[in-house]
Amino acid sequence: MDADVIIVGSGMGGATLAAALASTGRRIMILERGGHLRASASDRDAGAIFGDGAFRPDEAWLDGQDRSFNPGNYYYVGGNSKFYGAALIRYRASDFDAVPQSGGQTPGWPIGYSDLEADYQAAEEMYQVRGRQADDPTEPAHSGNYPHPPVPDEPDIAALRERLKHAGLHPSHIPLGVDQAAWLAAGLTTWDAYPNTCGGKMDAETCGLAAALAHENVTLHTGCIVERLECNQRGFVTAAVLANGERLTASRFVVAAGAVQSAALLLRSANDNCPSGLANRSDQVGRNFMNHNCSAVLALHPMRKNKSIYQKTLMLNDFYRGSNTRPPLGNVQMLGKITGPILAATTPLPRWLAHWIAARSFDFYAMSEDLPNPGSRVTLKNGQIKLDWQRSNWDVHLQLVQELKRVLRQVGFPIVLSQPFDRRTPSHQCGTARMGNDPALSVVDSHCRSHDHPNLFIVDASVLPTSAAVNPALTIAALALRAGRRMTQTEFAA
Ligand SMILES: Cc1cc2nc3c(=O)[nH]c(=O)nc-3n(C[C@H](O)[C@H](O)[C@H](O)COP(=O)(O)OP(=O)(O)OC[C@H]3O[C@@H](n4cnc5c(N)ncnc54)[C@H](O)[C@@H]3O)c2cc1C
Repeated sequence: MDADVIIVGSGMGGATLAAALASTGRRIMILERGGHLRASASDRDAGAIFGDGAFRPDEAWLDGQDRSFNPGNYYYVGGNSKFYGAALIRYRASDFDAVPQSGGQTPGWPIGYSDLEADYQAAEEMYQVRGRQADDPTEPAHSGNYPHPPVPDEPDIAALRERLKHAGLHPSHIPLGVDQAAWLAAGLTTWDAYPNTCGGKMDAETCGLAAALAHENVTLHTGCIVERLECNQRGFVTAAVLANGERLTASRFVVAAGAVQSAALLLRSANDNCPSGLANRSDQVGRNFMNHNCSAVLALHPMRKNKSIYQKTLMLNDFYRGSNTRPPLGNVQMLGKITGPILAATTPLPRWLAHWIAARSFDFYAMSEDLPNPGSRVTLKNGQIKLDWQRSNWDVHLQLVQELKRVLRQVGFPIVLSQPFDRRTPSHQCGTARMGNDPALSVVDSHCRSHDHPNLFIVDASVLPTSAAVNPALTIAALALRAGRRMTQTEFAA
């Protein structure tokens, strides 16, 4: 055997699980397709990042109409978290329940919020989250405090917070995995969508993987694309086969390649005994792809400038829950500060206008729940990934944007612009190997073990049964800690 556990992928799921398993002393081998992100001149260059796609993969997927596109999916040690906004938010307690939505019904989870609370707490400690529990009407119960106080507002955001409060809203602090002083010391930009080469962001590499690799029994192998998994007739996974033909064996395997790539790997691993792919007797692998419905909303006053550099400290959950008169609409949080070069690179606006707007705009991210739908799916077409994302609940998202625009006008912004996020950016991808109690309807159990293969686990965004309307990374980390604890008890008990 080459290892006791092979983990495919070093993102939020894979790295956090490796950290959870490290103290078992078992030989844990992490196979990562990408390499380490090293500091470069492009790190804080908005034109290179947003215009030239300097860090995007050299890869093409197909959309639902078979049109080719270059996805905003990142392959580096630490996965997509190297670029994330580091908003580390717990799902709200109601997100684990079946909730009627105007576009259908969220199915709920096989576990409740209380089953995951201790793992959320541990994940916040591992990722050194900065936050404060007060102020947010939807904040679920915490068994402990955030490890650090919130990242401070810049003066223009502090003033905005007061105006929102005055209008009767409940702005709260985004829980963030960022040391803003360390981040700013390496360059005066925001961190959202920028690569973390300075260590200022708490990501899967700087936290989860660093904790795992402190143990000699954990090894990381970069540049290893796992092409498929082999499985014997008894249903046990036996080997990971790399793109270079190398075959690596272990007694347990974890797929943590991200929601799209994990589904693709399982589908590519079809064999005579599993003709529709591994872990796929339910025919749910690749289905229920979700990605949140998101818009950028820019609010400005022609006579006032926004001098913020990072901006991303404030969120609003006033519209999160439904009421007698409207359904649950979602979360609103600040985007990382949009600058002139970002706006010029991502819109057809003339440069002067992009700079004029960005100097004044307060930039918001409106995020609504995307509901699971079996027809929204990842498949393979002649070996190529086909992502047929069928958005749901879009009318709810439009209502959220309308509500936000109304509030922003009320607090003094005569101009409010909005733009839905590009469909080709699957930042919050999830759902493609969903968790559930019924093996006929789900892919893994509530501890992330495949219903079909006793030694196969799936531990990343794929297993989320619902997308809720908050960012996914902390929930992925908490689920990885829960899965790791169960594996330690059941697989590696002394
Ligand atoms: C710009 C941006 C901003 C974001 N902001 C936030 C935020 O503020 N808060 C938040 O919660 N979330 C945010 N997200 C989403 C968050 O980053 C992801 O939800 C999370 O990182 C997903 O973790 P994962 O483990 O599921 O997968 P990934 O991060 O995709 O990790 C999978 C890993 O597997 C590797 N891999 C893939 N295929 C193979 C293979 N065949 N063989 C070997 N290795 C493979 C990949 O290279 C990657 O390292 C953001 C994402 C982006 C892109």
